[in-house]
Amino acid sequence: MSKPVTSPFTSLGLDARLVSALVALGYEEPTPIQIAAIPPLIEGRDVFGQAATGTGKTAAFALPILNAMPALSERGVAPSALVLVPTRELAMQLAEAVHKYGREMNVRVLPVYGGASMETQLRALKRGVDVVVATPGRALDHVNRKSLALGSLRTLVLDEADEMLDMGFAEDLDAILAATPKTRQTALFSATLPPRIATLAARHLRDPIRIAIEKEKTAPGKMPKVRQTAYVVARGHKRAALGRILDLESPAGALVFCRTRLEVDDLTESLKGRGMRVEAMHGGMSQEQRDRVMKKFRAGTLELLIATDVAARGLDIGHLSHVVNYDVPSSPEVYVHRIGRTGRAGREGVAITLAEPREHWQLKNIERLTKQKIDIASVPTVADLRAKRLELTRASLRESILAGGLDDYRVVVESLAEEFDPMDVAAAAVKLADPSAAGSGSVGDEHEIPAVAAAPPARAKAGPRYQSGGREPGNTARIFIGAGRAAGVRPGDLVGAICNEAKVSPKDVGSIQIADRFSLVEISEALAEPVMKALRGTMIRGQKVVVKRDRVGGS
Ligand code: AMP
Repeated sequence: MSKPVTSPFTSLGLDARLVSALVALGYEEPTPIQIAAIPPLIEGRDVFGQAATGTGKTAAFALPILNAMPALSERGVAPSALVLVPTRELAMQLAEAVHKYGREMNVRVLPVYGGASMETQLRALKRGVDVVVATPGRALDHVNRKSLALGSLRTLVLDEADEMLDMGFAEDLDAILAATPKTRQTALFSATLPPRIATLAARHLRDPIRIAIEKEKTAPGKMPKVRQTAYVVARGHKRAALGRILDLESPAGALVFCRTRLEVDDLTESLKGRGMRVEAMHGGMSQEQRDRVMKKFRAGTLELLIATDVAARGLDIGHLSHVVNYDVPSSPEVYVHRIGRTGRAGREGVAITLAEPREHWQLKNIERLTKQKIDIASVPTVADLRAKRLELTRASLRESILAGGLDDYRVVVESLAEEFDPMDVAAAAVKLADPSAAGSGSVGDEHEIPAVAAAPPARAKAGPRYQSGGREPGNTARIFIGAGRAAGVRPGDLVGAICNEAKVSPKDVGSIQIADRFSLVEISEALAEPVMKALRGTMIRGQKVVVKRDRVGGS
């Protein structure tokens, strides 16, 4: 017996054993669909929900089913719940989820789908099951053979009902439903609501509670100015993909959201392994641990904070260059709330979302509701990362040439030039100066991250590589500042210096890019001279730095 645990799930009316399973899985709080659907389902009401994958809808119907489960000794052979789904993958996945949630309740779950051995399914059904998760065709097969008795069914769930109709299962559904008791509870979930779904619901649901999790519209004016990019990546490649994306974006301060505590811990360890300065933040940590992490983050000694929504909620983090959704958030509102943490103080923020191919739908939903486009980009290749590093090396070399004081080195070049082409001499020197050429840094993972086809491929584009300016003022100047990450410079230092010394508003500061040894700041042309003058007269991170116009063309 485990001791009772309290969590926000307790107040939804769930059994302590379920709550403790959820806590063990690292779920910190219910998602919007769970908040809306669990209490009425526990009460026995029918539910008609519009929700796509990624919203947490599986738990929304699975938990009430488990909650109503009597003690094992009181259960019969026939199932008390049947969940119908369009595909075998989904059947396997949902069966696994139900098993996970019900692990302290000895729940007997059976996935039933075509293509699997009939014998095994027949044996399991004969032994007795509590929850059957099935595709309609195979379920009907068993009903007709009388191997699946639906007489004691308490709850029936139609999941991804639109997909089931699209796949031509309408008649099978009718036949299965006809074999169930009239007294049953029915829940129907569908990502879209075409008229056929409304008809299905009208015929089979009794006075249902209707739930549409995305009803709340966000006024477009309220949306922060954020460059939004999504990468569609298969689950198994997400960590590697995120590592590369972060290498390319080099965020000055990023908050990465995960769904669960376990994910937060796993990802933190994995990114630490890549040499990133990263800490976790979640509800399982003591206040003292959290304070310590926040102190580090504010001081700029951390690049990344990995957190759950709950843990991030109370944090006053100030400016973040990037917000990263390691999964598609459970609702458009959560998405808008998260990305609102970047793009403040007039500077452009960056929101990055990793989506699994099956979550693509959710991205479309978010776009529709926010009326903003999310660019689908391909995961940077190793070649992209090399190109970025070379670009930074090139800029450093340029700076070094302009700064002069090269006489001692010219001697070396001259002597080598007697033997080699000076271009080759220079190229060799560049190679030595380029960190990726030495095989150092995190450009170590050479393996392929397969591209996954995202639905709107027309927009597939890697996009700008830096936190590039989104302000598009008519005439922008780019200012070079001869101190960067190595000197501990963070965007706040630059904005602070510019605004305090030159008396300009943070709104006038465009994108900021911080490299190892220098930084670039965009500002409108009219303010460039006074800002440069003011910066030359001040200290940045305690030192006087070179300040001048950057003449390299736009990124
Ligand atoms: P679904 O929409 O049911 O496919 O769920 C999407 C993902 O969210 C699954 O990986 C679940 O394990 C996870 N999940 C569901 N509910 C929660 C929750 N309350 N907190 C964190 N993760 C959750």
